[in-house]
Amino acid sequence: DVDVAGDPAYRITIGPGLLDDGARLTSALRGRHALIVSDSNVAPLYADRLEAMLRSARPNLSIARFELPAGEHEKTLSRFGDCLDALARLGATRDACVFALGGGVVGDLAGFAASCWMRGIDIVQVPTTLLAMVDSSVGGKTAVDLPAGKNLVGAFHPPRAVVADTAMLRTLPDRELRAGLAEVVKYGAIFDAGFLEWLEANRVALLERDDAALAEAIARSCRYKADVVARDPFERGERALLNFGHTFGHAIEAEQGYAGSADGLNHGEAVAVGMVLAARLSARLGLAPRADAERLQHLLTAFGLPVEVPAGLSPDALLARMRLDKKAAADGLRFILWDGAGQARVVAGVDEAQVLAVLATPSDPS
Ligand code: NAD
Ligand code: ZN
Repeated sequence: DVDVAGDPAYRITIGPGLLDDGARLTSALRGRHALIVSDSNVAPLYADRLEAMLRSARPNLSIARFELPAGEHEKTLSRFGDCLDALARLGATRDACVFALGGGVVGDLAGFAASCWMRGIDIVQVPTTLLAMVDSSVGGKTAVDLPAGKNLVGAFHPPRAVVADTAMLRTLPDRELRAGLAEVVKYGAIFDAGFLEWLEANRVALLERDDAALAEAIARSCRYKADVVARDPFERGERALLNFGHTFGHAIEAEQGYAGSADGLNHGEAVAVGMVLAARLSARLGLAPRADAERLQHLLTAFGLPVEVPAGLSPDALLARMRLDKKAAADGLRFILWDGAGQARVVAGVDEAQVLAVLATPSDPS
């Protein structure tokens, strides 16, 4: 278990079989109403079991479901409105609880709905993707997308509890597992070189979905995120380090048209490329050893993740996207750069010529 300090403080519980732990799932429940939010892939697999567990733990609970069609393109204001309508139909009172059963799309949308319904009701995150277990379910950021950009509308709304049943990862498509591993690698890259070594040593077990290896990777990742979020809940400072690889990654995602496009990179894949680019940029600027950048590239490659900018995306177009990034500040392009494995910092005013050079130079010549 990982405890997250803050308001409210909450506990992340990790392990196989937790979806059948009714007491754990309902430990934060205060009222008589629960809404299970899920998507069209996850609901058929797990929603009946979750509902049965809630019912057996709390026989008087009034439970409804809201199901999104699966996919990033459904994380919209209109679906958010539908979710609020579902709470209205349920007659949800201020002590109602939302259960977000799904990946980051479900967690973000359900979390935002919970933050708004009657100015804020409880939410329990039941993440079902590796990415959601290590990242989106922890830290309280919620959002939906607008046509103008991703995550433009949202709120900070920490959950009451996070219950991560690693057995649910067995049905996750391989590509989604690898996307989650990219964010796991990110924690090692910015916080702990020793964790990168652990990942190198355990890469086969992780790809084979060994329960113990996954549980350890998730717990360690959540610990890093929980610590930084507790110190900087509203991203005024060091929480920004979690955006390592994301300035490049978001530019790639935006330029190819968000995840919607079937052959484009998903978020984790774009972040994998972005981390390698950020590491190369750091080496180029003389901040980090080139060998560290190469090692990061090898680890991501071993996890089956891409490490080069997809063909067809122009460096100039990507640079233009980065100038528009909401993290770009008045002081010019801002990146999370590396002082070597395990150490990162925010650097503002990065020279655009150096960024272009990194975007235009595929794999390292050395
Ligand atoms: P996702 O929610 O779209 O899930 C990926 C796919 O896997 C979907 O098709 C889903 O239906 C399917 N799926 C989920 N769990 C499954 C399971 N156990 N078995 C079989 N299929 C399953 O994507 P994601 O990668 O989990 O999340 C991405 C979203 O998270 C993005 O919208 C991103 O903006 C958001 N995010 C938020 C934060 C945050 O701090 N709030 C952090 C990172 C990412
Ligand atoms: Zn990310």
